[in-house]
Amino acid sequence: MSKLPNVTASIFSVMSQLANKYQAINLSQGFPNFPVDEKLLKISEQLLSANIHQYTPMAGLPTLLEKIALLTKTNYKRKVDIKTEMLVTSGATQGIYTAINAIVNKGDEVIILDPSYDSYEPSVLVAGGKPVRVSLNDDYSPNFNRIASSITTKTKLIIINNPHNPTGKIWEEKDFEDLELILEKHPDIYVLSDEVYEYISFKHAHISINTRPKLIEKSIIASSFGKSLHVTGWKVGYLIAPEHLMKEIKKIHQFLVFSVNSIAQHVISEYLDVVDFKEVAEMYEKKKALFQQQLEHTRFKILPSEGTYFQLVNYSEISSKNDIDFAKELIIEHGIASIPVSVFYKDATDKKILRFCFAKTDETLIKAGKKLHTI
Ligand code: PMP
Ligand code: GLN
Repeated sequence: MSKLPNVTASIFSVMSQLANKYQAINLSQGFPNFPVDEKLLKISEQLLSANIHQYTPMAGLPTLLEKIALLTKTNYKRKVDIKTEMLVTSGATQGIYTAINAIVNKGDEVIILDPSYDSYEPSVLVAGGKPVRVSLNDDYSPNFNRIASSITTKTKLIIINNPHNPTGKIWEEKDFEDLELILEKHPDIYVLSDEVYEYISFKHAHISINTRPKLIEKSIIASSFGKSLHVTGWKVGYLIAPEHLMKEIKKIHQFLVFSVNSIAQHVISEYLDVVDFKEVAEMYEKKKALFQQQLEHTRFKILPSEGTYFQLVNYSEISSKNDIDFAKELIIEHGIASIPVSVFYKDATDKKILRFCFAKTDETLIKAGKKLHTI
């Protein structure tokens, strides 16, 4: 019997494969198509001949853990104990899966905001939990009345994602205050905060759970170097959680992967000494402006993108097709790939919205713009 009877190939695989088949410009799956930093390549070349090819300690390479702790201190003024509160994971995906499986027991309810990244719900289902989908507001901000009224005695976890994939929404101070009020009333509920786009926020600086003393003791934070260092294929991420939760997470992690790719951990650890994360947001802000410029004077309506490297557009002026069919038409007939946003909703809500990824070379974005103008 299948544990995930309704799961098929992820939309990211489907759209990237179609893009390859029709040689379309791939603005679907979220990954950069520009070269990685020369400095990162140089460190990789230098380190490859060193003794970095065997297992690292289970929780992560100690120097990498120390550097993540330093980043967390510098960025968020939180002092993290690397022995008890931190874990290097094989991308945020494995971190999220492991955290959910450590916390959620059979029958527990997990609040997932709708629309949401696609890996949360299957991870809850494998753990035997019950996903409870709660719609975001029309502007994609969280609706705390709806969240509060979805809480039952079985609610174990709330999953939040900020900056948000697919919408690019970032939470305001007030949103965190409202979450804190709810959790004061329900002290047994945990939070899983997916912050993989923590360095890509445009509207205002990203507010991390790391800066919220009232939430830290009940929260697990997931991040990913794939997003912040432009190396999605390296699959290195990390979790930060209080000791009592991390203890349980590590028990599962050690039998799921034991330890993460040693080469990638060593290289990232050295590279963190030279990288400037401020440049990441600056670079993507320019790319966002360039892509939005391409969309001007097209029939696609630009929606706000406050963070991440995604841009939503509404195409209702162009077609009455549902978003999945329209996204396929764009690939096959116009040579441009996107992600239909309905797949991020529990009930496949079709609002005629597509997601484009602008983590691409300027040349690619301009070429894509030329195609979008003809539609
Ligand atoms: N969370 C969100 C919101 C994402 O967009 C992604 C995809 N990059 C992940 C988690 C997974 O990250 P990773 O590639 O590090 O597994
Ligand atoms: N996070 C990436 C996106 O949203 C995709 C990751 C994946 O392919 N699983 O496009």
